[in-house]
Amino acid sequence: MRFEDLELIDPILEALKDKNYTEPTSIQEKAIPLVLERNDVLGCAQTGTGKTAAFAIPIIQLIHQREKNTNGKPTLRTLILTPTRELAIQIDENITAYSKATVVKNTVIFGGVKQMKQVERLRKGVHILVATPGRLLDLITQGIINLNTIKIFVLDEADRMLDMGFIHDIKKLLKLLPVKRQSLFFSATMPDNILSLSNKILNNPKKVEVNAVSSAAETIQQYIYYTNRTSKKELLLYILEDKRIDQVLLFSKTKRGADRIARNLKKSRISAAAIHGDKAQNQRQKALKLFKSGEVRVLVATDIAARGIDIQKLRYVINYDIPNIAETYVHRIGRSGRAGEEGVAISMCEPEENIFIRDIEKLINKKLNKIENNPFPQTDKPMTEKEKKEWNKEKQRRKQEFFANRKKARSNSRYNR
Ligand code: AMP
Repeated sequence: MRFEDLELIDPILEALKDKNYTEPTSIQEKAIPLVLERNDVLGCAQTGTGKTAAFAIPIIQLIHQREKNTNGKPTLRTLILTPTRELAIQIDENITAYSKATVVKNTVIFGGVKQMKQVERLRKGVHILVATPGRLLDLITQGIINLNTIKIFVLDEADRMLDMGFIHDIKKLLKLLPVKRQSLFFSATMPDNILSLSNKILNNPKKVEVNAVSSAAETIQQYIYYTNRTSKKELLLYILEDKRIDQVLLFSKTKRGADRIARNLKKSRISAAAIHGDKAQNQRQKALKLFKSGEVRVLVATDIAARGIDIQKLRYVINYDIPNIAETYVHRIGRSGRAGEEGVAISMCEPEENIFIRDIEKLINKKLNKIENNPFPQTDKPMTEKEKKEWNKEKQRRKQEFFANRKKARSNSRYNR
């Protein structure tokens, strides 16, 4: 199928040509006609499948056709709600690209930065607003945004929204939207709570579904190093000796871990930056920009910061640790190999994580390729339940000792004053 077959208008076809999109992806083929026909849509799809264009293109077309002869300040017609700031920015950038030859105006708002610039842009008027829930509610409360004129509402990555505790915000926003509207609802998974939320939002929806979560893994070559916890630092340096790995997204379980890994890499003269929830928004954007432009070779991210990130032609993902939820693994590696590109995922597994690999292999229904020629092989054994209990007790004891010593040191210094 070609984009021309979807009855898209010339200004949009032109923009798609400039983006080098030759044919629609499966979700685009299914969803674009449904949205153009004003249906509510329930989409089961994850990022990487071309989902953004699947809803953005028909929305732009509907607004352009309606507004092209209207003069004056644009009226807000579409609200797109997404869980993370990075995703919001990315969707807004895509809309700007797809709509560049139309009359459509768009902008994005998100928290973590001053609101002044966002408010200035809103005051000039836009047709499409991409937003994260917190900042949106904030600006509504201040009377800067009013949702009365919304005709189309998009809820993107609904399952992530619920994971991140946005349910109350979403419920509040639903009350503020006009009852008569077109709604599009996308989620990578459809557990019961998501289905019941979709029932509250959608009216007689058409369902579209592409690729189950686990199938994202099919185009990506997946390798695994079984190693020891204490060898991971050296193993990573060994992996990065391969200069073909010139741009790699590396996942760390914790924020502190992410900072530590980035610091260690820099000590070894490998350019790296960390991106996670404790970093200021401008730091996060700067790190992402440097990574996308190739100035930073390794971007170390936690799962929360990496959700939905789309890096064109990203080939390599490294799992510095193995997530305990198998779906998270699939989301992580899905950052590479997007839109049909080839991807390579390398996982570094310590003994305690062996059981997570079994879950992952069950979910994706294949075995990860074990690297045999590994200078840092796994020699330690996973701890038994008894050893784990003892180790946890020991950790607790060391923590208490640490705090007790700190307290002592503080009070001593007071006496010395
Ligand atoms: P998304 O799932 O919306 O995050 O899109 C994933 C990636 O696919 C983005 O880099 C898009 O620019 C790209 N993309 C979307 N639609 C197409 C298409 N029809 N042909 C080629 N690339 C596309």
